Amino acid sequence: VALDEGLQKTKQSFFSKITKAIAGKSSVDDEVLDSVEEALVTADVGIETTVAIIKRIEDRVARDKYMGTSELNRILQEEIAAILTNAPSSEFETFEVPAGKKPYVILVVGVNGVGKTTTIGKLAYNFKKNGKEVLLGAADTFRAAAVDQLTIWSDRVNVPIVKKEMGSDPSSVAYDTVESGLARNSDVIIIDTAGRLHNKAHLMEELSKIKRVISKKIPDAPHEVLLVLDGSTGQNALEQARHFTAATEVTSLAITKLDGTAKGGVVLAIANQFKIPVKYIGVGERMEDLQIFNKLEFVDSLFS
Ligand code: GDP
Repeated sequence: VALDEGLQKTKQSFFSKITKAIAGKSSVDDEVLDSVEEALVTADVGIETTVAIIKRIEDRVARDKYMGTSELNRILQEEIAAILTNAPSSEFETFEVPAGKKPYVILVVGVNGVGKTTTIGKLAYNFKKNGKEVLLGAADTFRAAAVDQLTIWSDRVNVPIVKKEMGSDPSSVAYDTVESGLARNSDVIIIDTAGRLHNKAHLMEELSKIKRVISKKIPDAPHEVLLVLDGSTGQNALEQARHFTAATEVTSLAITKLDGTAKGGVVLAIANQFKIPVKYIGVGERMEDLQIFNKLEFVDSLFS
């Protein structure tokens, strides 16, 4: 799925509101601003981010004394781009890993159902396509379905997987995976974790134990803690981001299911509120449907 196709629903919902608001108007007045505000909130851009955007537009109206509605789209685009530009970026534009970190260990966290397993499968596919040896670790030992799903992806993408019987200690699976990755000379190790929505203390304890055993094998690993969020849940995704960032050091984000939702604006809210790079976005169920998040392309797709 191409990016602008994936963002179709967000785009339609957002711009139909704005188009309606400015119909028959020649300048940006309070009524237009109210409608823009409503459109941003409906797209799940979030109150804080919406207020920031509206304030910037108001400032420009005040400074320039007048703003035509035809300029509004351009200015909205600029302001949204500015918000994204201020947010941290990921280092790579392709499915790459930093040099000198082999194996590069990615710990994947997130609540059940957000698309964690699918994202791991898509990542494995893309890294492999990019010439990397990938190894998966099924450290979500609480749900049989999680291990089964990850095994299906490992077969589909044709990458090895380390797993143990249900109920095993997740950190022992993580340890074995890293050990196996070192023995096999893997380039990338991707480890799935349990996605139960624990209380903060429990989650913190579980994740820090997994991190500790990984670092016994590779001192600076895990190199990346990737939090997967479901973009179609809008503000819930923000809540989950708060929950996980309070429990562990999350270093990157993947936002899934941006196709089929009108809440794509949540990417802006997340980029604006968490100083963590949005690295990947999911725009479909197939393995090709994971993209490296590119801020400028994202804004262009919204406005094209
Ligand atoms: P997990 O419980 O977090 O591991 O979630 P899964 O990876 O099993 O995904 C849950 C459902 O979401 C599955 O039906 C996936 O096919 C679907 N899914 C995952 N990512 C995307 C996406 O980017 N777009 C769409 N449309 N569906 C997705």
